[in-house]
Amino acid sequence: MSSDPDRNERMEKIVSLCKRRGFIFQSAEMYGGLNGCWDYGPLGAELKRNLKNYWWQKNVVERDDIVGLDGSILTHQEVLKASGHVGGFSDPMVDCRTCKARFRADQVAEQRCPEKPSRNPQENGCDLTEPREFDLMFKTSVGASSDEGAVAYLRPETAQSIFVQFKNVLETSRQKLPFGIAQIGKAFRNEINPRNFTFRSREFEQMEIEFFCRGEDGLRLTDEWLEARIAFYEQIGIPRDKLHVLDVPDGERAHYSSKTYDIEYDFPFGVQELEGVAYRTDYDLKKHGEASGKPIEYFDEATKEKLVPHVVEPSAGCDRTVLALICEAFDEESVTGDKGKEEARTVMRFDPKMAPVKCGVFPLLKNKPELVAKAKEVKALLAPLMNVFYDETGAVGRRYRRQDEIGTPFCATIDFDTVGENGPELEGTVTVRDRDSMAQERVKIAELPGYIAGKMA
Ligand code: ATP
Repeated sequence: MSSDPDRNERMEKIVSLCKRRGFIFQSAEMYGGLNGCWDYGPLGAELKRNLKNYWWQKNVVERDDIVGLDGSILTHQEVLKASGHVGGFSDPMVDCRTCKARFRADQVAEQRCPEKPSRNPQENGCDLTEPREFDLMFKTSVGASSDEGAVAYLRPETAQSIFVQFKNVLETSRQKLPFGIAQIGKAFRNEINPRNFTFRSREFEQMEIEFFCRGEDGLRLTDEWLEARIAFYEQIGIPRDKLHVLDVPDGERAHYSSKTYDIEYDFPFGVQELEGVAYRTDYDLKKHGEASGKPIEYFDEATKEKLVPHVVEPSAGCDRTVLALICEAFDEESVTGDKGKEEARTVMRFDPKMAPVKCGVFPLLKNKPELVAKAKEVKALLAPLMNVFYDETGAVGRRYRRQDEIGTPFCATIDFDTVGENGPELEGTVTVRDRDSMAQERVKIAELPGYIAGKMA
């Protein structure tokens, strides 16, 4: 929560729109909700998929030096012992002796006392315990046996399977240093205080690259990845001036890192981390080599030397980026309606690449079979190429508003000109209305796929 009431109100409107229009629902809402877990509705699922596809396209498909991996979520306990997570992946927690609420010790000042939400626990003089370590990993057991040997964990980050599969990937993909392995997938952390909508969840998705290199290149590549990742956020519609870079100081970085940048976004609830770009040195590969007794080494054909690669890790939060896209897109404005009256317009200004629906397709009137048939033809033309939404109910102005509210960048209306009722001049064309400028232009149906694709480049 921010101390600025306007920002809080904006966030409340965003959360409410997400539910009302089917972007994000609380998990198990009808049973009172599962805290820290979220379900993406029809539009949220599309938005998230667009983000993940674009990230994969840019980082894997279009690059020769990065390959993909899709590792298991259930993780062998020895993997997480070697990485330092078992016994070491915890946050300090304090309890309130009066109301029994639990807070992350290093974030007490940013949290609210449940008894007095206008204050944080310190301001309220709450009776807090000394900090104790709280294990963030979800533990489970595999198979019918419940002894220690059957213990496994839900992965707390996707990175570890990349390190553990390094040799297999190297041998099968025949990459040469520097090269990367990328992965998108779920990670789980039993966060003490899930909050700020989906920002801090217990189940979330990461988009991670482990970029392996020689030690002497580590710091330079960390700087280069930082720039590349900032450029990525700009490409998906997050402006540079809303992004902040934190050069994480000594003493605050993870134990394995000798350099970390946090890329932060100016959310309505404050400037918060979207992604960490960390130079993890050769820590992980060395640890897994030692713990397994199978050293992980790279043989350099040119110099005939064996070395343990170092690694630079751009680790982005998928859910946090979706939330940033939603926060950035949300806009309200006053426009002059059909009858000359001022009316409020809520519009999600998604970059067209990210927009869940790319084009609304409307017959002007639903009781004119020739318009409906033509509109269905247009829908069938576009549907194999992009997500389109067919809508024939209500006035066209209201249909535009409904699409504005979910961020559809284009709407194509099929009218009497389209079917040639007013002469041959405009036959076979539709009116395309632009979400942001609200300007309309006539476009030939055959050119519509290219017209929309051109705006998504
Ligand atoms: P924080 O300091 O916010 O707890 P972190 O520094 O522990 O995050 P990393 O371990 O660097 O996070 O994880 C990489 C990325 O994964 C983060 O930048 C974030 O986008 C995402 N992430 C981490 N924890 C969560 C969470 N609980 N909910 C949603 N996304 C998360």
